[in-house]
Amino acid sequence: MAVFPIRTFGDAVLNTAADPVEAFDDALARLVEDMLETMYAAPGVGLAAPQIGVSKQLFVYDVGEGPGHLINPELVETSGEWEFDEGCLSVPERFWPIVRPAYARLKGVDADGIPREIEGDELMGRMLQHEFDHLGGSLLLERLDKSTRKAALRDLRAEALGIARPE
Ligand code: ZN
Repeated sequence: MAVFPIRTFGDAVLNTAADPVEAFDDALARLVEDMLETMYAAPGVGLAAPQIGVSKQLFVYDVGEGPGHLINPELVETSGEWEFDEGCLSVPERFWPIVRPAYARLKGVDADGIPREIEGDELMGRMLQHEFDHLGGSLLLERLDKSTRKAALRDLRAEALGIARPE
């Protein structure tokens, strides 16, 4: 297994819609294991393939109930509303209160190509929506209100250029 560096804000792979996984082979199974190891090392509760520079429709997760993964997911249902201080391994050490549906259900396949459905409320529901967004090339910044997003982007761009560093 291997721990990969996590791509951060400013890396184009994070703003690119990921390609569907087509080959369900040993390399894919290894990628799932490596992504889990990378996620646990970070540590995080979810990690999408673009975050390690692999533009594929795949994410791994563990919200405290054991490891899982989903490939080529579709968001099939959301409901309710929940505010949570959401963060992202690709936008390190920053958190914003973000309102999203509380519940989400995704369907896709596992690394063997077997159809799977994953659903959850609150932290699980949030993680599912957050990772699904990554695969569409969208970061949590897209979920901020306009003025908060503007300020966050200004800070992050300055930081990425090395103009300023927080603290
Ligand atoms: Zn993220």
